[in-house]
Amino acid sequence: MKSRNEICEEIESEVGERIVVLRHDVDNIYGIYRPGFRQKIVKPINYALLALMTLSVKLRYLIPFYENHIQELLDVESKYGAKASYFFRVITLPRHSLLRKLIAEGHEIGYHSDRNSSFHQWFGDLKTLERELNVHIHGFTKHGHSLVRDGGIVEEDLLINYASKAKLLYFAQGEGHEDWNLPKKIKNVWIFGHHITLKKASIENVRKYLERCIPLILIHPEDIFIKGERAKLEYVLANRKGISVINLIRIINKISGEESYPRQ
Ligand SMILES: [Zn+2]
Repeated sequence: MKSRNEICEEIESEVGERIVVLRHDVDNIYGIYRPGFRQKIVKPINYALLALMTLSVKLRYLIPFYENHIQELLDVESKYGAKASYFFRVITLPRHSLLRKLIAEGHEIGYHSDRNSSFHQWFGDLKTLERELNVHIHGFTKHGHSLVRDGGIVEEDLLINYASKAKLLYFAQGEGHEDWNLPKKIKNVWIFGHHITLKKASIENVRKYLERCIPLILIHPEDIFIKGERAKLEYVLANRKGISVINLIRIINKISGEESYPRQ
């Protein structure tokens, strides 16, 4: 069995440099943190449109500047050659032109679940995303609280069961297991132990967190409009190679195989 350090080093040599796993939960359709008066206008429109989206996923094609906050994030990431996982809700799923761009630039499309009270609803939304986007989804993250849809509290066992039943490969929430140095496979689903949300962390804490073997950082696309956040993101991308969750899992599978993977 390989030790944790061996696995961390092998991941680094496989990628060619230290890594950071980039998680983007797409909660909103506009950059709601744009400075000044624009925030006052954009925010209520954003929530009104999200409420409308619960009626029809087709309406998005009529909306001007739909998800142009993602474009801003994509531009920053392409400058550093970073790849990321973009997790979409049914009510924020991208237009086809944006979807094609995300895929062409090597990013992953995942599921951001916001209806978790029954497997039926949770699975239905996953299938809606796959059908509308015509992609195969490998993993998911869970939405927190919002005005129009509430992801509820994280019940990890329940969500692991959902993912296992749906044959998803991973749940990249990263909560409740600070002591895990590596993700763990439970019921055939990779579970992440910890993450940080970039906007909630000081630059010192970001620096410290990046020293971990597999740092997982959450950045909502709209967060880069918050003062100072773009600089923090650029610091991360300049110091670590940004990769998507699915790429990390492929690397781990390649270098270790299940038998040699440490149980911790
Ligand atoms: Zn969310």
